[in-house]
Amino acid sequence: MKSYSIPPAPTISLPIVGSKERFPVRRIYCVGKNYKKHVAEMGGDPKNSAPIFFTKSRETLVESGAQIPYPPQTQNLHFEVELVVALASADEVFGYATGIDMTRRDLQAAAKTAGNPWDMSKNFDHSAPCSAITKAFDAPDIQSAAINLTKNGTLMQASSLHMMIWPLDEILNHLGQSVKLRAGDLIFTGTPEGVGPVVSGDHITGEIKGLAPISVSFSNG
Ligand code: MN
Repeated sequence: MKSYSIPPAPTISLPIVGSKERFPVRRIYCVGKNYKKHVAEMGGDPKNSAPIFFTKSRETLVESGAQIPYPPQTQNLHFEVELVVALASADEVFGYATGIDMTRRDLQAAAKTAGNPWDMSKNFDHSAPCSAITKAFDAPDIQSAAINLTKNGTLMQASSLHMMIWPLDEILNHLGQSVKLRAGDLIFTGTPEGVGPVVSGDHITGEIKGLAPISVSFSNG
């Protein structure tokens, strides 16, 4: 039996719809620039968009119903609703969830301008709200499902998963050329157009037809 110099970090996991078991999370990968109209709204060229990947730490996950303290170092915290894929192995999908890729947009813009890494704009505390996972068997029509996000009851993002530039099998193919994907990995697959800011007091809900919704609110940091 190993002994440790400090207490080891707890296992991070997400609930599974209709199950008492939980899904233990390993790595979190995220896809950038995966919907043409979102690439355009960010000032990019949709014709030129190879998939890009970045990561979040599993400790950034937040479950539905949470109140999130408004994070430090930003005046422009944005929501990005996304399909989240949970892997059972390198090439087998365990299930799907609704996630929100929270982004400190001002820090991201500065990083882009300076050619610096995105980490502090993407991988910060509470930056990955994610719903319970629906098993793949229970979500057969996911590839064409509607996806939306409402803020304080007003529709902000509305699209369909079939609008993805890189569908799931191509994401897995591309990503798998760079890293060994494993059971427990999550992939946030990119956001459609309509991203925007939240302030303290706001409440946002992301929905994908056939999956569990994700709902969080924001309080003073
Ligand atoms: Mn995103």
